[in-house]
Amino acid sequence: MSWLVQSRLVNGPFGDPGVYVDFLFGRRAILFDLGDLSPLAPREVLRVSDVFVSHRHMDHFVGFDRLLRLRLNRPGVLRMVGPPGLIGGIRAKLDSYDWNLLGEGSVDFGIEAAEFAEGRLGPWTGFRARDAFRACPVARAELSEGVVLAEDDLTIECAALDHGVPCLAFALQERAQVSVLPEGLAQLGLSVGPWLKAAKSAVRRGEPDDWLIDAGDGDTRPLGLLREKAFRTAPGQRLAYVTDTAFHDANASHIRNLAQNAHQLYIEAVFLDEDVAEANLRRHLTAGQAGRLAREAGARRITTFHHSPRYLDRPEALATEACEAFEGTFPPLD
Ligand SMILES: [Zn+2]
Ligand SMILES: [Zn+2]
Repeated sequence: MSWLVQSRLVNGPFGDPGVYVDFLFGRRAILFDLGDLSPLAPREVLRVSDVFVSHRHMDHFVGFDRLLRLRLNRPGVLRMVGPPGLIGGIRAKLDSYDWNLLGEGSVDFGIEAAEFAEGRLGPWTGFRARDAFRACPVARAELSEGVVLAEDDLTIECAALDHGVPCLAFALQERAQVSVLPEGLAQLGLSVGPWLKAAKSAVRRGEPDDWLIDAGDGDTRPLGLLREKAFRTAPGQRLAYVTDTAFHDANASHIRNLAQNAHQLYIEAVFLDEDVAEANLRRHLTAGQAGRLAREAGARRITTFHHSPRYLDRPEALATEACEAFEGTFPPLD
């Protein structure tokens, strides 16, 4: 069974933070954070449909210009979600250029942005190239608390962490994976066909056992029977992205929730535990703290990043400390 998306850091662990989430089917990608995007090929940048910005410190937002430069000539909408101040930040970036040559004949490109505050996503503001990027409200369905993207195949959850400023952490959850067991189908006297799409979708939605599925030519079967004999379900992939956060109880509890049972957790590891005083001062995690949080959350795999350049002479030290803490072989910090 394959996942819906695959993910990777945009830069090396000492470079700007950011994760590129590529859809395996369909030309689409999502970005967590907008730091230096130069390692991404233009075709990869052009696939980006949604960007989730943790906060507007420069190492997380400087990539906006490259994204805009490439997307400007492609029709479509780029959605951006971030903390309070995001819309003003986009406005300020757009205002730094002259747009006098844009008009009705321009490529129909637009940015739509919304801010996550008080636990939920606020109203959307649009900036359309054909309108010289003047701001205007955009009507979009309201999402549930803690959710910043909801689609048929995946949702993205969000929590605001404290980093001196609000800093958003995210978790992408794929919907359950449903696969077909050919031998089960054969036992029921059914064959593969377009009807399977609706059946799989009913399984994913969790419809009741007596829900009737048309298996072709009016041959209806109860979903419960199909679920038992012909389908196998597995939970979808969960990816979490956590960066720029002070280490305290409130943050730790948000992180454990978002990263709970994550197949992959991307988490910052800026300092070594030996420099915890510095980490506290700068409201960042140590590698040991990151590893312990990942273990407590039950994450399956961690990738650390946002390493401080002070450790460039021992580049493996942070990942090693995080791994040892993650595996429980590293003593907890007092
Ligand atoms: Zn920061
Ligand atoms: Zn940062």
